[in-house]
Amino acid sequence: MGITLARRGEQGQASMENMEKVRALADVAEQGQPERSQFERRMKPTVMIVEDEEALSTLLQYNLDKEGYKVVAASDGEEAALLVREVTPDLILLDWMLPGLSGIEICRRLRGRPETRNVPIIMITARGEETDRIRGLDTGADDYVTKPFSMTELLARIRAVMRRIRPALTEDLVTFGDIVIDRAAHRVRRGDREVHLGPTEYRLLDHLIQHPGRVFSREQLLDAVWGSDVYVEARTVDVHVGRLRKALNNKGEKDPIRTVRSAGYSLDEQFHN
Ligand code: CA
Repeated sequence: MGITLARRGEQGQASMENMEKVRALADVAEQGQPERSQFERRMKPTVMIVEDEEALSTLLQYNLDKEGYKVVAASDGEEAALLVREVTPDLILLDWMLPGLSGIEICRRLRGRPETRNVPIIMITARGEETDRIRGLDTGADDYVTKPFSMTELLARIRAVMRRIRPALTEDLVTFGDIVIDRAAHRVRRGDREVHLGPTEYRLLDHLIQHPGRVFSREQLLDAVWGSDVYVEARTVDVHVGRLRKALNNKGEKDPIRTVRSAGYSLDEQFHN
């Protein structure tokens, strides 16, 4: 418990103040324990670490893995850019000080791409200055931690960010427009009627609903819904999306699924409003 990272004494006053804030946040997060176990039981969210300090990266990977996350790691911006094309992280831990592209620049680029625009980003910074923090949040980071931080507190923050930004990951009842998924009962409704889905269509809808607005390529959907160890042709995805559409959309009803030409599929953000 409470492994403290990085070199002590380097940060002094600023990080002590920060620790108080982190502690307060951690207390809030701790109250959500039942939600946490639900969240862990349901699925493994993927966390991407972008950190050039090998020891810290390894420690983060070890602890996140133990906590039940899938973990992928990059040591600089270039590698991170390649990695986000292969995996679709649910959250990104991004170091500020990196060789080559800075964390801030990486954050800006991730926010500029449709497939990573909505992925929560927690910045890890060794700087404590208020202006830098504000700059980080302005660029599109959802939260930040200042080195040195304790692992327990960082994990609490990750859970808090996930809950705040992606409630669909943790809840039994997920609503998107007039569509409701009841995960406990494994049932889907649209308006007043029950929607009957095959297991693949159900998982497809459940995956899309966790990331409204995010565009998934066929390969990414294959990976998330069918699993990476199964060989299925990319156009199989089209067949199942077609079935999902047919089951969801009665005559005259708006189609919640958007086909993005030469990119893939997403759940239409406009539909929600
Ligand atoms: Ca660094």
